Formats: sequence, C-alpha cells, structure tokens
Amino acid sequence: MKIDETKVLDGTAIATQIKAEVAVEVKRLREHGITPGLAVILVGEVPASQIYVRSKVKACAELGIYSELLRPPETITTDEMLALVAELNAREDVDGILIQLPLPPHVDTKRLLEAVTPAKDVDGFHPVNVGRLQSGQPGLVPCTPAGIIEILKRSGIAIAGKNAVVVGRSDIVGKPAAMLLLNQSATVTVCHSKTVDLPKFTRQAEILVAAIGRPGFITTEMVSPGATLIDVGINRVTDAAEVARFFPGDAARAEQFARRGSTVVGDIDPAAFAMAGAYTPVPGGVGALTIAMLMQNTVTATKLRRGLAAAEA
Ligand code: NAP
Repeated sequence: MKIDETKVLDGTAIATQIKAEVAVEVKRLREHGITPGLAVILVGEVPASQIYVRSKVKACAELGIYSELLRPPETITTDEMLALVAELNAREDVDGILIQLPLPPHVDTKRLLEAVTPAKDVDGFHPVNVGRLQSGQPGLVPCTPAGIIEILKRSGIAIAGKNAVVVGRSDIVGKPAAMLLLNQSATVTVCHSKTVDLPKFTRQAEILVAAIGRPGFITTEMVSPGATLIDVGINRVTDAAEVARFFPGDAARAEQFARRGSTVVGDIDPAAFAMAGAYTPVPGGVGALTIAMLMQNTVTATKLRRGLAAAEA
C-alpha cells in the first residue's frame, strides 16, 4: 500500500530542532559560567545499553553539556551503587544522573532509582517527579512520553478535547504518556493486557499511542480513519516472512533485512498508517526524540537546581 509521506511526523527533524534549541540554552548558561553536567552510570556489558550510552554521551558533547561516564563492574552490589549515587547527588558539577537500565538482576533497581535526588533525576522516574507530573507541577518528565507531546505540539496536532487512547501502562511510557495527555486536556483512556475488547477502545481514539512491545499489534481494523497514530514500539524482527508481511513490496526494507538479518517494527502494523491522519514512523518517529529530550531534561535540571528556571518561566 502506498503511504502518503505528507502525513509522516518526522521525529528526526523535530529532534534536530530540539537539540539546536538546547545548544543555544547551554551556550547561554556557559556564558554565565554554568556548564550543565550529566553523569551516566553503565553497569556491565549489555551491547544495546552500550550503544544507547554512547549516543547519549555523544549528544552531550555536540551540545556543550559536560558528561561523565561511570562504568562499574557487573559485580557491583546495591550498596556500592547506592554509595556511587550518593557521591553524584552531592557533586556541584553534576546536574543530571542517569542510571542506564537494565541493571544486573542482583542489583535492586527500584531502590537505586529512588536514591537519585529528584532534582537530578533526568529520567523522571523518581516518585517525587512522578507525583509532580501527576499534580501538574514543574519537574522532570520521562523522556519518551515527553517526546510524544513535543511531536504532537510541534506538528500542530491539537490535544485538548481529543479522545486519546494509550495502549500500555508501563511506568516508563504508558502511564506518564497518559498523564501528560491528560495535563494537556485530552480525554484519556489507558488500555492494557487485561482490557476486554481492545479494538472497541482503539477505534475511538483520535490520538492513539501504542506502547506495547509487540510488533504490528495494532492492526488496520483497530484504527479509526484520520486518527493520529503514535507508535512507541521498537521491536526487532528477524523472521523473513514477518518482514514480508509487514512491508510488502518495500524494496528498501527487504534490502536492509538481507544486509542485517533483522529490521525494526513498531507496535502498529505499518498498513494502518495508510488510514491515519498523521503517524510516527518506526524508526524515525518517537524513538528519535528520546535523546533530545534527555538533553532538554539535563538543561531543565540545571536551571531548576540552580534557581534559574523560575526567573525565566
Ligand atoms: P512494557 O513495560 O513491557 O509494557 C508493555 C505494556 O503493554 C504493558 O502495560 C502491557 O499490559 C501492555 N500489553 C501487553 N500485551 C498487551 C495486549 N495483548 N493488549 C493490550 N496491552 C498489552 O513495555 P514499555 O517499556 O512500555 O515499552 C513498550 C514499547 O515501547 C516497547 O516496544 C519498547 O521497546 C518501546 N520503547 C521505546 C522507547 C523509545 O522510543 N525510546 C522507550 C521505551 C520503550 P500489562 O500492564 O497488563 O502487562
């Protein structure tokens, strides 16, 4: 099926725009003698985590943010990690602390995320920031859901009064995305694996956010014509038949698959994009925003902690 390119919400272009704005802010802060600093803790040798962390550190360098990569060994204990976080909490030159997940199973992830001081919690996972988001107070918001709102706003898609349906209720994506949409005055429905008759809800969506983790799970029949489709899913597909089913006649995908042995598919069947009023592609949609939002959060944390945000708000 031919897809109308004019409907594509280009995450890569929006991320470039946000990064340029962050670079300007960083320059201004540096002129006042303040260099935003991000500490990234990467435990162990998970290849995907290494790639993500490398991209985060590179983005910091590009935008003038100081970054420090800490690489404790796989064997580090929860107590040792807590001590490391306490040290970073106390450091004046560190504005943001990011603990790359997943951590090794013997480390108590929840305890660690709660140990990061809320003022430096650039992932927005600390219960204090979760509470601030819920009560509409300024704070640090998880990067991926914040990116969704940026895509909608910067693409001129109205949110207030719209029926928004979020499929997925994870703490990292689904719940904060729902809360952000609610804060923007959408009428929000949150669906999950126990939802009965999911298509009944998804078909009512004017804005549909899919954060499920199952390739092509939202099919054409589940979508109302003209809806805005926000696909958060990042699923690596390695089965040639599945790739052919999702991307019939797509020579570029077939070539990529032949070269790499895999391709990435979102949680929405690409065939459904033809029905959409607008949609985020995978890759190049929501995923493209995450690092830009982390950079923005680092600057926000810098300003909030150093008492600069209120004066500028
Ligand atoms: P998660 O923690 O596994 O949560 C998945 C959610 O989907 C759960 O709430 C689950 O419901 C729901 N779900 C599962 N099967 C369902 C079904 N059959 N019907 C309805 N709901 C169902 O995943 P996540 O961390 O939110 O991530 C979701 C996707 O987004 C993944 O593909 C991930 O790779 C991607 N992601 C992308 C970014 C990015 O773009 N940077 C960031 C984070 C995640 P229950 O709660 O009932 O189990």
